[in-house]
Amino acid sequence: MKIVNQIGILYLCATPIGNLEDMTFRAVKILKEVDFIAAEDTRHTRKLLAHFDIHTPLIRYDEFSKTQSGEKILNLLREGKSVACVSDAGLPAISDPGADLVKLTIEAGIKVCPIPGANAALSALICSALDTTKFTFVGFLPKTAKNRHELLTEISTRNETLIFYESPHHLKKTLYELLDVLGNRNAVLARELTKIHEEFLRGTLEELAENLNEPIGEFVIVVEGKKNFDEIRPPAENFIDVYKNLIFQGVDKKSAIREVAKKFNLSRRDVYNAVINI
Ligand code: SAM
Repeated sequence: MKIVNQIGILYLCATPIGNLEDMTFRAVKILKEVDFIAAEDTRHTRKLLAHFDIHTPLIRYDEFSKTQSGEKILNLLREGKSVACVSDAGLPAISDPGADLVKLTIEAGIKVCPIPGANAALSALICSALDTTKFTFVGFLPKTAKNRHELLTEISTRNETLIFYESPHHLKKTLYELLDVLGNRNAVLARELTKIHEEFLRGTLEELAENLNEPIGEFVIVVEGKKNFDEIRPPAENFIDVYKNLIFQGVDKKSAIREVAKKFNLSRRDVYNAVINI
């Protein structure tokens, strides 16, 4: 039976992040009942639909087509048609197209409805054994080194767990960047969640970065939040004394900060802030 409304509803429908058995009964039902499915990659979604015997027509909705497709979808919703938005995996609108469509739909006074299900960030977090009471989802870091560094510096003082998405290609470099700006914290690499080769690599950022060889598959990086000042630092005089000693020996400030940060597992920024007035 088709869903009939005066004005349509936009359903945000989760799909599996690897294991097809994570598709929910409700997702299958909604995808069968709606008039159209807006999909990020129609070829990819077609395979999922075939598996669940779903024959609803598809509309492409991705970064490149979103302006045109967004208008088309809005018109369909205004005509009373129902539309389900899916991404390639997991929740649409989480590091995936869909967020703009939600905004557009709400601005047009049309209802949106979540069909929850698999999500990589939360699946990684719950297996991390890090603090799950407070966390920040960062997703993919910005593309340029400057913007990445700015964002990491901004979040480096937060106490809550941090969650990042990263492609295997950039993983090692990103781990070193995290180490450099956040300091040597505990972290977990959640690899290939819900798939055959699912695994969790646990250690400090430095250990994980050093031991990673040609990573394959999909990864979520979960990093411990900044601990309380007293917890992570040895008595303040201690590292400041080491810094002063280095300066006394003629080491330049930048190198001294780098050496102290490494020795005490602190971020360079923290050391810099502590010694700036010396
Ligand atoms: N919308 C998705 C969600 O709800 O999780 C996220 C899509 S985002 C374009 C893709 C990124 O999510 C990957 O680069 C990886 O960081 C993470 N990811 C997706 N599936 C994963 C999996 N099975 N295992 C580990 N990470 C995954």
